[in-house]
Amino acid sequence: MIHVDAPDFSLWVVHKYPLFLRAMAEEKIKEEYIQCKSKISEHANIFGDKEDVCIFCKIAKGEIPSEKVYEDDNFISILDINPETEGHTLVIPKKHFKTILDTPNTLGNEFLEAIKNTSLRLIDKHKAEGFNLVFNNSKIAGQEVDYVHAHIMLRKLGDGMKLKMINGLRDKKDQK
Ligand code: AMP
Repeated sequence: MIHVDAPDFSLWVVHKYPLFLRAMAEEKIKEEYIQCKSKISEHANIFGDKEDVCIFCKIAKGEIPSEKVYEDDNFISILDINPETEGHTLVIPKKHFKTILDTPNTLGNEFLEAIKNTSLRLIDKHKAEGFNLVFNNSKIAGQEVDYVHAHIMLRKLGDGMKLKMINGLRDKKDQK
């Protein structure tokens, strides 16, 4: 006859129950962490750089005023509120992408077309001779508004405009 020992309940209580409680507590902490994380991301949507508060989203939707230079299905060009040069204009997609790296390649042709159409209008209106096209991508590169945008800065002979990077490159070239 085979003899099977009955499980020793008191032994289980002493040795295993604390582990069981700890596992339960860890599970609860995990659950709270997950809930907390989703609260944080909800919060980020409300207070972060998303549509509700993003200045360029509001401009693209026409919720705040801007001086429109050009518009097509997916892009809008507006005068910069704090222009570096006469006619300084920003070309922005109507949909929010943070930098050029987040912008879908499929929008590339249209982005270029919007930049060209805007530049041609500006050149014609301001009798400019050329323009600088600048994309600042991320804070380190001077991006203040986390919404991809192209700066079109018109150039005329003797306008005195000094783009630090361009002048820096020229200086180096001149020294050779
Ligand atoms: P960046 O430093 O490349 O992010 O450039 C942001 C540009 O957006 C700056 O040149 C600002 O003057 C311009 N800007 C900020 N707010 C507005 C606005 N409400 N309308 C037009 N331009 C704006």
